[in-house]
Amino acid sequence: MKVIFLDRDGVVNEFPGNGKYVTKLKNFRFIPGSLDSIRNLTEKGYAIFIISNQAGVAKGVYSMDKLKLINRKMLNGIKESGGKIRKALYCTHRSDEGCSCRKPEIGNVIRALNLVKQKMYSSNNRFFVGDAKSDILTGYRAGCKTILVLTGRAKRRDVGEWGVRPDYIVRNLQEAVKIIINNDVMENKKSNKKIRKRS
Ligand SMILES: [Mg+2]
Ligand SMILES: [Zn+2]
Repeated sequence: MKVIFLDRDGVVNEFPGNGKYVTKLKNFRFIPGSLDSIRNLTEKGYAIFIISNQAGVAKGVYSMDKLKLINRKMLNGIKESGGKIRKALYCTHRSDEGCSCRKPEIGNVIRALNLVKQKMYSSNNRFFVGDAKSDILTGYRAGCKTILVLTGRAKRRDVGEWGVRPDYIVRNLQEAVKIIINNDVMENKKSNKKIRKRS
């Protein structure tokens, strides 16, 4: 099964700003094109997971109930446009709590893979798409190809200072999806060649 991990803020919905959170339903707005992108991936058979840090809950900036409401709004919007998210996995801890689910830790990636009975490092067409360094690091550690989108936190020039580089840097989720689908075509060609050689 083909699995894709998406960060939420700055990838699917508008980035709330550095150090800020989406704390109200009305402040959750889809980035233009993100719904089409998710529908597109869904139609191509990808299992899509959202992996998001929401430390604002532990900090008391907004409640778990509010996060759930916002999550429902997101999932409903995606569903109405023909897309499907297998599950949105949130870390609601603060960075000083030392949990295993706050990106760049990969606990939520492992949980997601367990849900679809997949192992780490078992696929060449597994991607992590995010707008921040922690997303790229998470994807890298979990054996995914990584795509940085420029709709959120990070700017192209930031990447030079990172210890790990994204495999791709693109403008938005739509462009990321093109890469993902194209990669899948290439992988299929490769495996077809192998099969032909064998026979
Ligand atoms: Mg983000
Ligand atoms: Zn956590």
